[in-house]
Amino acid sequence: MILKREHFDAKQAQLYDVIVAGGGAGGLSAAVYLARYNLKVLVVEKGRGRSFWMQDLWNYVPRVVSGKELIEGGKEMALHYGADWLNGFVEAVTDTGEEFQVRVKYRFKNSDYPVFRAKYLIAATGLIDVLPQLENMQNVYEYAGYNLHVCLICDGYEMTNRRAALIAGSEKAINTAFVLNWFTPYITVLTLGVYPVGDEMRAKLADHGYPLIEKPIARFSGKDHVMDGIEFTDGTAIGVDTGLISMGSIRHDDYLKNLDLLTDGGDIVTEYDCRTSHPRIFALGDLKKGLNQVSIAVADGTLAATAIWKEIRRASAPRKWTAPLQEAAARAEESARPEIGLGAPRGG
Ligand code: FAD
Ligand code: FAD
Repeated sequence: MILKREHFDAKQAQLYDVIVAGGGAGGLSAAVYLARYNLKVLVVEKGRGRSFWMQDLWNYVPRVVSGKELIEGGKEMALHYGADWLNGFVEAVTDTGEEFQVRVKYRFKNSDYPVFRAKYLIAATGLIDVLPQLENMQNVYEYAGYNLHVCLICDGYEMTNRRAALIAGSEKAINTAFVLNWFTPYITVLTLGVYPVGDEMRAKLADHGYPLIEKPIARFSGKDHVMDGIEFTDGTAIGVDTGLISMGSIRHDDYLKNLDLLTDGGDIVTEYDCRTSHPRIFALGDLKKGLNQVSIAVADGTLAATAIWKEIRRASAPRKWTAPLQEAAARAEESARPEIGLGAPRGG
């Protein structure tokens, strides 16, 4: 069910088996499995995460058209099998040793801060790509996720032999040009004029024939989500067919900061089953070390949910189903009882 304010008291009083922070690709997969393992699960989702911006979802079998379709379908399935869902923002998590207390901000205005409790925590809050900050951000959103890409693995193919602008957030990020050139030779590198480029890099770009433009962008031009050019603040412009933004990303992991999870370069380190260095916290998808792809996040959800179920199942008292035994005993007693009277003739 979708939780509203009127449900908070009852739901805060109960202990969930698992709270899933983030209802994107990984969190939804975990929620569906957990619900189908008959466990009590709550998904907390703030809305407008990375998969929401994914206008085209590629490399996922079978074809799912967009991130929104994936999220809506996954949410519907999780709710259908009995997961609880809260549209809220996970602010803080406290580990008491026995349980996690998950403080959620509910509603942006007139907020409530309910605290829900669970035995296990799944961190599936992903990350978000840094975009160029233009005066009119609506102009960026018009094309970002359409033919202005953020993920080379996802969309390199879409850029094949196209005139591509690489918007690099640092000199190091310019090296993406030498991966992008697997797909296209027509690359122009843009720095937005915010950092210096060394002689070595300049020489390398010149050697490959990739123009370098070092001035701020005024706006992207195009129509119906198809970018076809970039205008600069000095009034000049270039024509492009596509673009790739390589400006880094911001992890959604503030609520995990006090839990001292093992990380590597900021990515959460996990075992095969997505268990972190904390035995009752699992991390999925983009938040953890590994490939940032929907297929990985979905598989991570499967692994984490199954590992948790196994652990809860093994810690539970053995299930001895008395009802079937009692029914069998009653049937045996019935057939052993001598028949009284003539009754109906048997076998016709
Ligand atoms: P997400 O799907 O991002 O889910 C995390 C969720 O957590 C979000 O819904 C977010 O709102 C929520 N959240 C964050 N913080 C909080 C909080 N504190 N409290 C509550 N909720 C929170 N991958 C592909 O495989 N193929 C593609 O074609 C592809 N194209 C892409 C195109 C674009 C434009 C982008 C941006 C990404 C693309 N990706 C693609 C990558 C893909 O979106 C991610 O790899 C995938 O969504 C990761 O799943 P996840 O569950 O880890 O994170
Ligand atoms: P497969 O999908 O089995 O693909 C292997 C392919 O290789 C087959 O098509 C086979 O014909 C082919 N092949 C084998 N040998 C050769 C050869 N020498 N030369 C050429 N081709 C060959 N999983 C779920 O996630 N959810 C479910 O609800 C679910 N339900 C299931 C229900 C049933 C009845 C069954 C049988 C399985 C179910 N599974 C389910 C498990 C799921 O089918 C497997 O985990 C999944 O298909 C494994 O993918 P795979 O690519 O490893 O193998």
